[in-house]
Amino acid sequence: MAKVNQTPMMVQYQKIKDQYPDAFLFYRLGDFYEMFNDDAVKGAQLLELTLTTRNHSSKNPIPMCGVPHHAVQNYIDILVDKGYKVAICEQMEDPKLAKGMVKREVIQLVTPGTQTDTGAGNAKENNYLTALTRINNQFGFAYADLSTGELKVSSLDNFDAVLNEVMSLRTKETVVDQSVPKEVLERLKTVGILLSHQDNVEVRSELSYLTQGVTATEQLTVLKHLLTYIHTTQKRSLAHLQRAVIYEPTFFLKMDHYSQRNLELAQNMRTGKKSGTLLWLLDETKTAMGGRLLKQWLDRPLVNRQDILARQKKVSVLVDQYFERNSLQEELTQVYDLERLAGRIAFGSVNGRDLIQLKTSLKQIPKLQHILNELPKAAFSDIYERLDPLDNVVEIIDSAIVEEPPLSVTDGGVIKDGYDQTLDTYREAMHNGKQWMAELEASERKITGINNLKIGYNRVFGYYIDVTKVNLNKLPEGRYERKQTLANSERFTTPELKEKERLIIEAEEKSTDLEYKLFVKVRELVKANIQRIQKLAHAVSELDVLQSFADVSEKYRFVAPTFTQTDHDLEIVEGRHPVVEKVLGRQTYVPNDVKMPEKTSILLITGPNMSGKSTYMRQLALTVILAQMGCFVPAKSAKMPIFDQIFTRIGAADDLISGESTFMVEMKEANEALAHATANSLILFDEIGRGTATYDGMALAQAIIEFVHDRVHAKTLFSTHYHELTVLDKSLTQLKNVHVGAVEKNGELVFLHQMQDGPADKSYGIHVAKLAGLPDSLLKRADTILAHLEKAQDQHATVQVATEGRESQPDSQPVEQTSEDVTDESDTQLSLFGEPEEKVTQADKVASEVKTLNLMGMTPMDVMNQVYKWQQQLAHSKKKR
Ligand code: ADP
Ligand code: MG
Repeated sequence: MAKVNQTPMMVQYQKIKDQYPDAFLFYRLGDFYEMFNDDAVKGAQLLELTLTTRNHSSKNPIPMCGVPHHAVQNYIDILVDKGYKVAICEQMEDPKLAKGMVKREVIQLVTPGTQTDTGAGNAKENNYLTALTRINNQFGFAYADLSTGELKVSSLDNFDAVLNEVMSLRTKETVVDQSVPKEVLERLKTVGILLSHQDNVEVRSELSYLTQGVTATEQLTVLKHLLTYIHTTQKRSLAHLQRAVIYEPTFFLKMDHYSQRNLELAQNMRTGKKSGTLLWLLDETKTAMGGRLLKQWLDRPLVNRQDILARQKKVSVLVDQYFERNSLQEELTQVYDLERLAGRIAFGSVNGRDLIQLKTSLKQIPKLQHILNELPKAAFSDIYERLDPLDNVVEIIDSAIVEEPPLSVTDGGVIKDGYDQTLDTYREAMHNGKQWMAELEASERKITGINNLKIGYNRVFGYYIDVTKVNLNKLPEGRYERKQTLANSERFTTPELKEKERLIIEAEEKSTDLEYKLFVKVRELVKANIQRIQKLAHAVSELDVLQSFADVSEKYRFVAPTFTQTDHDLEIVEGRHPVVEKVLGRQTYVPNDVKMPEKTSILLITGPNMSGKSTYMRQLALTVILAQMGCFVPAKSAKMPIFDQIFTRIGAADDLISGESTFMVEMKEANEALAHATANSLILFDEIGRGTATYDGMALAQAIIEFVHDRVHAKTLFSTHYHELTVLDKSLTQLKNVHVGAVEKNGELVFLHQMQDGPADKSYGIHVAKLAGLPDSLLKRADTILAHLEKAQDQHATVQVATEGRESQPDSQPVEQTSEDVTDESDTQLSLFGEPEEKVTQADKVASEVKTLNLMGMTPMDVMNQVYKWQQQLAHSKKKR
């Protein structure tokens, strides 16, 4: 950094900058926020500003650039969106009145995780700031959304779980302390998360209630770090932060972030956008907060039967009651973002319009209650009770705030007449004064006979009497005092006019001052109700999501699924992939059954490329997720167990984010499933093993199937292009083959997208080649080669030999598994691919002679002779083979 010239201002600047080394310091200087030194150089580049210098005449001019104060928010947003922090440093006193240096302070540190004004386009997204600590081998993990006040905390036992949380919350910033291991910090950085260090803890007493009820040390610690970070960066009221809610990932259907991404729940894999995702299909919410809650439910479907059924019951009622649902939607449309309004009330940044929005929203509540009253009572009683119309708040706003207030809260015009007596007298005075002016104008015109005599006002000169030059001669000498001369007119005043002016201006000033005071008072009165507003917001959001479920369920002909009690019987009749169906159109989409009775744990799916295997698998996963969110499902009927976890390995897309190769990711995801799945889980393996050599891949695929079959017992869909694997149904009792049908029609192969029992016909490739018009002789040759390969395969059949090597595992027996078991089994498998024919080859012999050769005891000639001998031996042994 350039050496700072020690003017008093730069001394002050540097002192403040030193406290925020990792942020851009926006230093208020009159009408601008200035950046200096390195900040200026980098800032000018990122924000496309002109870089200038301060003290250009000196030896070390200081680089500088600035942004006008009225446009500052834009520039802050740009930097923060790019992952930087911005410290906003304000003048804390009026520069005109200041003696010496103007006092300046940082009033807020804006960071990616604490940004609250994320723009209208992001109203349906949460912006989560997360925090991590590590104590006694446990991770304490917490997150908060500063715009809504949500605060959650959990304990996680390993880093994978942490990674899952941060990825599915899509956090941009994590607060960490020195207890977090370096490798963990590195990993978080590689997935693009900004790390903010917060080592000391100081939680102000008014925030301590937020941690009430939290007892686990790691949870308490992480919350304290998070709260300290929030209050040191925000430096403003945090009254809307809600008491920390403890959650455990096991309360919900567990999906790792791979699965969430693979299934395109909320983010399109190709575009990264919402369009084309399940969320896109499901989102018929009418409020921004409903939109956010829907996203949260989608991230965490339920596992508790009662909770699922409670939501489903409500959806059923709303599906049936079409008219009530319609009116609900209409009323919800008028409800603004109560959660974020509550946030702004706490921050003290609401204006008159926000309060009118709050009032409008609250006035909807009795209407919502009325509609719920029309519905079968029991289903909605819990929501009904939480719909608090907050009459007192409506009354306060209604009595105080005008219906169409201006944006500014300091320029007056916000408070209603009749709300405050003093304000009314000021207004009366202003009004009377203006009345008086009008009367004066009329009477002076009469007296002087000047018909275009005017009384006007401007900011600099105040009130004046304006007489045009041509009429000046009509004016009696000495009637007015001259004030200002213009090209075409003279402006005058009188002592009475001056006196009235003083009264009007005084009244005006007093009135705007008083209005602001009254507004702040109203805001504080409303602020006292923040927690009630938040509680209400939750109830309304829930209602909104449920009506959205009902709407979608009706629109796309979903049905209510049933859940089996004890067995693992799964039967989806005419199931559909709702997103693909929406995109393709209802006529085009072919529904499919998924039938996996208690005794079937694996469906082995074969079929040509593009026939619909992947779609079929995702369809089941989405159906399960929808069911466990409490929504209806896209099928004619659906019966299923309640799953505890979903694992997927779908497609061959590279894991671009963490920069790992496809096959490595594939194996990691497979391992994730094999290590953590239970008999109550759902596993989707889509063409696993494709990323490596054929035999390698096939062997892995088979071993994985056997492992799932014998040890895991999870419901598993396994699609494969290894046709050889279909014979596994002979040895694996819980495995069933299905395939996607195709027919030849007018010389083209048409995929029916229809699942059928049994394995697929294996010669599709040649069939397709034939349709494509490849030469007959070539096709014949391909047929011969295929036959040959098949024969060879029958002799060495990997599958047959390999199944013999499988330890038989009666599935009624609980499986005790040790790591040795696994190694044993894989050893058996590996050895099945044939041993080398000669136990010790010539090459081995030569190699061992090379190793033992006493080089130091030989002449160069001896060595040459010896090497020649070896060459002969090796050449000989090759011929013999
Ligand atoms: P595979 O995994 O067998 O290669 P996909 O599942 O990717 O095939 O499906 C390929 C395409 O076929 C999809 O993009 C979709 O357009 C279409 N498709 C899949 N399933 C169906 C279906 N049930 N009905 C209609 N079209 C389907
Ligand atoms: Mg596929």
